[in-house]
Amino acid sequence: MSQLIDRFGRIHDYLRISVTDRCNLRCVYCMPPEGVQFIPHSELLTYEDIEKVVKVAAKLGIRKIRLTGGEPLVRKDIEILVEKLSKIEGIEDIALTTNAIFLSQKAQALKNAGLTRVNISLDSLRPERFKEITRGGQLERVLEGIDAAFRVGFQPIKINTVLMRGFNDDEIGDFLRLTIDQPLQVRFIEYMPIGHADETWKNGYLSLNFVKEKAKELGFELEESEGVFGNGPSENFRVKGSKGSIGFIHPVSDHFCTNCNRLRLTSDGNIKPCLYWEDELNVKPYLDDEEELKQVFFRALNIKPENHEMAKVLHNEKQTKMPTIRRMSQIGG
Ligand code: SAM
Repeated sequence: MSQLIDRFGRIHDYLRISVTDRCNLRCVYCMPPEGVQFIPHSELLTYEDIEKVVKVAAKLGIRKIRLTGGEPLVRKDIEILVEKLSKIEGIEDIALTTNAIFLSQKAQALKNAGLTRVNISLDSLRPERFKEITRGGQLERVLEGIDAAFRVGFQPIKINTVLMRGFNDDEIGDFLRLTIDQPLQVRFIEYMPIGHADETWKNGYLSLNFVKEKAKELGFELEESEGVFGNGPSENFRVKGSKGSIGFIHPVSDHFCTNCNRLRLTSDGNIKPCLYWEDELNVKPYLDDEEELKQVFFRALNIKPENHEMAKVLHNEKQTKMPTIRRMSQIGG
């Protein structure tokens, strides 16, 4: 069987698929206040198109799929896509990244369709602040979504928290406490300069070493878990004696690209070899030609760089290529 191995020997078995660029929230760091121009519906890949791409990807060794957005749960009948993908030979794991606003309504249908696990984005545990960050979201709906995820048996349930200076850096203790009695995996993620590498980003960016220092200051004892670095980019710990765990994902400051095993597919049909750079290859002309579609994957791997250069933005250093102009809501994270 062919494998997706890039020029740096990294085996790619993970495809993240953005199913829409539309979202029911407007997180201040993810979308500009004026909103973004949405991709017309007619340009989105249909579920049948996505199925074709994944069938070929599975033949090339893709085993894990993550559905993301925009917000994947705003795409109509998303469980139909999950069911289609879960039947593809070779696909072993289908995960979802969601803001969980619609999760309590959709969890059972998604579980029945073959979804294995969920990552829920949650940047504040304070209702008023949550509303501010998301420009109108209700925290209660997310908490109901988390309950529903437990109820239907998704495992693991991960909480993604983007850490930002002066924004939610005073809630570190509350997020750590979430993991004590519930088997939740809270992952702190560094704020990335994607789509807006400007002063707002620089002012908001905080290295995750801050969380470690804060945890110590607040009296939490963190111990290493899951071999610290498992398969993914997360550095794993747990609060001593807790049921859950804590992850640190440092896309800007540290350890992110070395073991990168992922490719991305945008909702308008572009394979992005790297989250950060502008390079994209469109699959739409090749949807009915398996051999050509395979070649698009190989070409994408051939242009995949060894590293992104997000840290250079912090130090105003010149970059070697053009970063993407897509916002995270148009890539999916
Ligand atoms: N709507 C879904 C959600 O909220 O999880 C999926 C799409 S959202 C773009 C995926 C993830 O990207 C979220 O966890 C969000 O917090 C994260 N994200 C967006 N902009 C980011 C940035 N500049 N830096 C780091 N993470 C970011």
